[in-house]
Amino acid sequence: MTNASTLKIEPNAQGFAQAAQIWRGGGLVAFGTETVYGLGADAGNDTAVAQIYAAKGRPSFNPLIVHLADQKNVAEYCEFNDDARALADAFWPGALTLVLPLRPQARVSKLVTAGLDTLAVRVPDHAIAQALLRQFGGPIAAPSANPSGRISPTTPEHVMAGLNGKIDAVVDGGPCGVGVESTIISCVGAPAMLRAGGIPVEAISACLGRQIAMPDDPDTPMSPGQLASHYAPKGRVRLNADQAAPHEVLLGFGAVDAPLNLSPAGDLTEAAARLFDCLHQLDAMGAKDIAVSPIPDHGLGRAINDRLRRAAAPRD
Ligand code: AMP
Ligand code: MG
Repeated sequence: MTNASTLKIEPNAQGFAQAAQIWRGGGLVAFGTETVYGLGADAGNDTAVAQIYAAKGRPSFNPLIVHLADQKNVAEYCEFNDDARALADAFWPGALTLVLPLRPQARVSKLVTAGLDTLAVRVPDHAIAQALLRQFGGPIAAPSANPSGRISPTTPEHVMAGLNGKIDAVVDGGPCGVGVESTIISCVGAPAMLRAGGIPVEAISACLGRQIAMPDDPDTPMSPGQLASHYAPKGRVRLNADQAAPHEVLLGFGAVDAPLNLSPAGDLTEAAARLFDCLHQLDAMGAKDIAVSPIPDHGLGRAINDRLRRAAAPRD
């Protein structure tokens, strides 16, 4: 959506049903949690997730945190090791996000994981967020509900000030209790802190009975998005190609003759929704040299180009 004004939904049974309906139709609904307001969309719907990036004006596709109502739901999507289970038992529902291995069959958009085989998940401790997630009955991807680069919103008024007219609705959950983002811990291998947040690292270490790796440790895996060539396809990538050389596979955009096309109609939302899937398909095809059509550098095109530039960056 781009023009009509954003609906303010009351936090009652009728409002929850209405919000879930919008999510099922691929729309965007902001909602309060104990950390900050999240901009939610159906995490299984590529186009809906692409709209999150469009509404926020995000210049890059960093993976998003998925919200679920309880640990049992999370176990349908992710694998837990002992550390993950201990942290989930201790801190969920709450301001803790765990990065866990994604189950191979889990129905989650590749735009949510940015093509990774791990998923960042959280079970929020907020009655309204809980009611909405239960009503929807599936995973909701939700970064903070603010335009990219602006301060995270902790009231529905903040959300409206930044995104009115760009999202379908905001559910009024009053002011957020914690007001800072969740702490992110990776439990893929040895536990490591990826982002400081609402739950102090001391509490995490106390729960696990040992110190955990911190973001500035050289051993800590970098958060995806920071690495130039992270989750790039295996083949070499050449950008802004008007046509492919004989040894190249063309990843097209717009009206070009290509074995794979991000959007034959030249639609940036469709291209964003298909980007990671196309990169995976290029790997599956065994493409060694990839040429990519020029992509306009505005709106979602900026995030697409950012990702493609990382994919094209030199690597070992
Ligand atoms: P935001 O949704 O804007 O609060 O940011 C989400 C944060 O979670 C970013 O810093 C991401 O890099 C991080 N994140 C999301 N998914 C993953 C993942 N699979 N592995 C590591 N970090 C992740
Ligand atoms: Mg944010």
